[in-house]
Amino acid sequence: VPLPDRFLHALATIAGDHHVLTEPDLRAGYETDWTRRYHGSTPAVVRPGSTAEVAAILRLCREHGVPLVPQGGNTGLVGGGVPHNGEVVLSLRRLDAVAAFDPGSGEITAGAGVTLATVQEAVRAQGWNFGVDLASRDSATIGGMVATNAGGIRVLRYGGMRQQILGIEAVLSDGAVLSRMPGLLKDNSGYDLAQLLAGSEGTLAVITAVRLKLVPQQPQRAVALLAVEDISAALRVVSAVRRTMPSLEAAEVFFPEGLELVCRHARLPYPFPATHPCYLLLECAAQGDESAPLAGTLAAIAGIRDSAIATDRPGRDRLWAYRERHTESISVEGIPHKLDVTLPLGRLPEFEHRVRAVISGAEPAARPVLFGHAGDGNLHVNILGLAPDDDRPDDAVLRLVAELGGSISAEHGIGIAKMPWLHLTRSTADREAMRAIKSALDPAGILNPGVVIPRA
Ligand SMILES: Cc1cc2nc3c(=O)[nH]c(=O)nc-3n(C[C@H](O)[C@H](O)[C@H](O)COP(=O)(O)OP(=O)(O)OC[C@H]3O[C@@H](n4cnc5c(N)ncnc54)[C@H](O)[C@@H]3O)c2cc1C
Repeated sequence: VPLPDRFLHALATIAGDHHVLTEPDLRAGYETDWTRRYHGSTPAVVRPGSTAEVAAILRLCREHGVPLVPQGGNTGLVGGGVPHNGEVVLSLRRLDAVAAFDPGSGEITAGAGVTLATVQEAVRAQGWNFGVDLASRDSATIGGMVATNAGGIRVLRYGGMRQQILGIEAVLSDGAVLSRMPGLLKDNSGYDLAQLLAGSEGTLAVITAVRLKLVPQQPQRAVALLAVEDISAALRVVSAVRRTMPSLEAAEVFFPEGLELVCRHARLPYPFPATHPCYLLLECAAQGDESAPLAGTLAAIAGIRDSAIATDRPGRDRLWAYRERHTESISVEGIPHKLDVTLPLGRLPEFEHRVRAVISGAEPAARPVLFGHAGDGNLHVNILGLAPDDDRPDDAVLRLVAELGGSISAEHGIGIAKMPWLHLTRSTADREAMRAIKSALDPAGILNPGVVIPRA
């Protein structure tokens, strides 16, 4: 639906002519998601440069009843950041200033549009690091990462995005600005609005800045890639290393079907002379060299079929590439259906053993590619070879997850991709409470309508 000229004129008055994009070529990159599975169209992309501009845009949208979709780096994997029904796209990427970095306390305030890589670069030189890390670090923004409560490869040690938040600035749908940036480690003064917005996927407020806590930089890193007989063996290794090595930072799992795709598309040699049923990548990080204790711990564990350890940067990157290049290699192969599930650790082997049969039972042509964050019980179930709207295998997998006591979304969120299955793992009371919060904060329903919660 075309927007009235006076609305577009008012948008340009707020953000500047150059920052209201209405030409199809300029809008295109904001209309399709990273996976290419989800796309829509927008009459305009608006790129505010300050919190005050965001607030003015929200007031204007509310006044005209115009819905909008907040968007950061557009690396989300559940279709929640692109316009599906002609919404305006509110791109937060210009809020890209690191407003304050305090090396004494290890805290940083970043605009919503600052990328993860920028935060990492800003703090590492001063002996700090950021607790969350993802392969999409060059594009994913801090605002988007809070909005999706991103997890990633270091949750085992530092928790997800939720655990890094010390304060937040956000704009409500009526243009009111919430600002809780006290720089306090403890603050029990009422409802924690920052935590409420973590994982809200753009449906409750627009995040404009975040105060984050940092973790000490651990300069010495040891990475081990292990071949094991199955996921149960991988979990036994993770448990043994966890108990003896507090420096364990990542425990990632993948399988031969994913390794084949990565080696073919990223043109990498196979890591070991033989193919194995399951691979586990471990990273330990500390102030001193962890390679000898790691090798010692691994030597005492039965069932490791082959292994490689690296401590220098090129060697570590080489081993990590086998895991980190899964997402892009799967996307080069085709447009996957992406399911991102967690299971109680004790049920993960049963899930992994059953899920492939469940997928091929629903659609024999489907090709599952599994990998994930073994330490968190989180598997990414990618399914290639499906028509975009053939949801039968998705349905079968998510029902299996519910049967085994898991969650249909571990870290990517609900977006529009998982919404039809939310009832499988969130009760009626849960969903009603979520709907009540949504109507209280966004009574006109203009913020990312139809995401997480079905339209009223
Ligand atoms: C190669 C690759 C690897 C990945 N690995 C991981 C991983 O290991 N773990 C993981 O959790 N995710 C991973 N992701 C998914 C993705 O990077 C994260 O979900 C990330 O947090 C999205 O950030 P973004 O800035 O790109 O958000 P977008 O994709 O732009 O938006 C995501 C959602 O947040 C909302 N949103 C964005 N910005 C704001 C804001 N300022 N205020 C309010 N709402 C907002 C949007 O409306 C949308 O619903 C990966 C993606 C890729 C492509």
